[in-house]
Amino acid sequence: MIGKMLGNRYEILEEIGQGGMGIVYKARCHLLNRFVAIKILRPEFSHDEEFIKRFKYESQSAASLSHPNIVSIYDVGNEGNIYYIVMEYVKGKTLKQIIKEVNGHLSVDETISIASQVLRALDNAHRHNIIHRDIKPHNILITEDGIAKVTDFGIARAATDYTLTYNKNIIGTAQYFSPEQAKGGIVDEKSDIYSLGIVMYEMLTGQVPFEGDSPISVALKHIEEELVPPSKINRDIPKGIEDIIIKATQKDPTKRYSTAKEMLNDINKFVSDPVNFRIIKIDEDAPTKIMPTIDYKGNEREDNKPVKSRRNKIVSAIITTVIVLIIMAGIAGATFIFINRQTAEEIDVPPIVGMQVDDAKKLLEKNGLSLEIVGEDYSDEAAGIVLSQSPEPEIKVKKNYKIKVRISKGVELVKVPLVENREMDEAVSILKDAGLIPIVNYAYDNIVPANKVISQNPMANEEVEKNTRVDIYVSRGKEQVTMINIIGKTLDDAKKVLNENNLTLGNVTEQEQDGPEGVIISQSVKPGDPVESGSAIDVVVSKKPSPPVLKNVTIPLPDIPGEMKVVVVKKDALGETTIYSGMNTYQDSPLNILNVPTKGHVIIEVYINDEKEPYARYEDNT
Ligand code: ATP
Ligand code: MG
Repeated sequence: MIGKMLGNRYEILEEIGQGGMGIVYKARCHLLNRFVAIKILRPEFSHDEEFIKRFKYESQSAASLSHPNIVSIYDVGNEGNIYYIVMEYVKGKTLKQIIKEVNGHLSVDETISIASQVLRALDNAHRHNIIHRDIKPHNILITEDGIAKVTDFGIARAATDYTLTYNKNIIGTAQYFSPEQAKGGIVDEKSDIYSLGIVMYEMLTGQVPFEGDSPISVALKHIEEELVPPSKINRDIPKGIEDIIIKATQKDPTKRYSTAKEMLNDINKFVSDPVNFRIIKIDEDAPTKIMPTIDYKGNEREDNKPVKSRRNKIVSAIITTVIVLIIMAGIAGATFIFINRQTAEEIDVPPIVGMQVDDAKKLLEKNGLSLEIVGEDYSDEAAGIVLSQSPEPEIKVKKNYKIKVRISKGVELVKVPLVENREMDEAVSILKDAGLIPIVNYAYDNIVPANKVISQNPMANEEVEKNTRVDIYVSRGKEQVTMINIIGKTLDDAKKVLNENNLTLGNVTEQEQDGPEGVIISQSVKPGDPVESGSAIDVVVSKKPSPPVLKNVTIPLPDIPGEMKVVVVKKDALGETTIYSGMNTYQDSPLNILNVPTKGHVIIEVYINDEKEPYARYEDNT
């Protein structure tokens, strides 16, 4: 495969990796001069028409996704029996490689960052009705800058029936299967959420919750076995994050997060306030209960505390005594504490998304809260508008609580690429890749060849907002004009009208003809036909016929007895005419025919007794 050119455009450079469905290569797209990744299907798949149809359908629908955390699909094609899918090339590692390399587990911050990015990808795809079905660390690529990009969207669907038979990575895949996938039941968005929960579990503990010798045994565990809480393996996992993982990996899909957005919101709530973050426990049998307060950074959690030492026992005895004393100190004191706590927790976070950041700040301050800008993003909103807030509106927080917001940087600006002189298709792809909207206009051009871009507006290197329209003017080749009628005109008149119509006079030949002299009697392009602007038109001009020359013709007769029939025929510019016909004898020889009108090249033929071949033939020029 290395060195092979696919689709006349992608040059295979090197193998990147292998998976169950195919082999992934790094390749160069010669049309757009960039690296791409190409997954070439294994031959066992390319013989099955039904599979190929599904593969094309699924990858084409995934190609409609465009999101910074989703590996873009550029192209799906085949060359004979080689079926391939062309994607964005991601320089980096798979999350699986990273987990292996760290030899243990990732940090809570790293896990949150990756999980949030995958959730944004899932949220985008789910809103387009595309379910991934194969969320696993192998399908999450991490760039050197820590950006997570999810690959293979929807492709697993095409392979569902096949994975169980062919995929040698099936154990790898089964470890992330949701129970409903394991049962072969209905798979929806919540299945991706389950798989991500398992991936989070693995990031934080370095191991998957269910392992086994065969895909079936792993699948059965997903259906039947409870997972060991991750904090049993890694004590540093905050309770809030563990709760999020447990909610995501509920066996009953209705008990999981119902959308990626919901799970992302919980992660955001946790990040903005690890201390007060609570999750309502999802156990229908037990009455709804609030989980105890958790402590994210640093402090030990209640259930992680080692067995109390003797000294600790004494300390806690003293604390207990102090509390008892405070309570006994009188109802006033207790009331004071009570009121204070009430007011401290009673501030409802107001909704500030969509407000100018300064106005939002004022509103928060009026409510005894403050604002912290944690990031800026490009968006369609004007610069300075609050895009998101954490915590969300109506959540109760303490006085002076800092509300974290992300604000708009305005619309992203992009530099218009130079596309003049490029082929139209190429120019359109380049502009689309730059985040612009190409609008194709056509124009005739005498210099730029057909199908190439003559000019563009806005011009190259101009900074414009993302999604701006860029007009490109594509050459239709030289301008075509409609041929006019110049028959009957003199050369001078014809020249004038030809010039008026962007044409010129070409070769002129003369032809004798009765009637007026010096006028055009034919033209090389018929009136009404299209002709390239600037073309030279050849014409034929009439010339007065010159008068015929009168000649005397002398015909010697053959020496044969008796009478003979003699016919003399003349052929010249005047046409073919019989100039003599009569009965003669040899005594009449030679015959003299006087004053025969002739013109140009003259042929005289003599026929005796109606024979087919002439008895004599003479040629002469006037
Ligand atoms: P499966 O077939 O179940 O998806 P897999 O994810 O392990 O298994 P592939 O999707 O075929 O296998 O990917 C094989 C390897 O190719 C990946 O592990 C990754 O290293 C690399 N890879 C895949 N897609 C890209 C990409 N867009 N850019 C760069 N490398 C990629
Ligand atoms: Mg993959």
